[in-house]
Amino acid sequence: MADQYHDLSFEERMSRVDFRASEQPHIAVDTEVCRSCTTRACVTACPANLFVPTADGGILFNHEQCFECGTCYLVCDQSGAITWEYPAGGHGVVFRKG
Ligand code: SF4
Ligand code: SF4
Repeated sequence: MADQYHDLSFEERMSRVDFRASEQPHIAVDTEVCRSCTTRACVTACPANLFVPTADGGILFNHEQCFECGTCYLVCDQSGAITWEYPAGGHGVVFRKG
């Protein structure tokens, strides 16, 4: 079972998950705070690749395919950069089998 999981590509993993995206983002990223960040830890830590660095030093973020794992909030060491809450009821990630 574990071997099957590791053989999946990123695209295959994402295709096994449904999202009921809310128009209201449950995560807010203050890109002005991000400009002084040297680690960009969210970029490598987010399993859904939702943080994208921009050429001008900012960060682009899209909440719509978020797994709600909380990793970005844990790895970010810049106060105020990320405001995190669960999506409103009826919205968010829906995991499917195989
Ligand atoms: S969200 Fe946090 S870790 Fe990511 S770029 Fe901004 S300050 Fe850095
Ligand atoms: S909660 Fe997880 S999936 Fe969602 S943006 Fe943060 S690291 Fe990515």
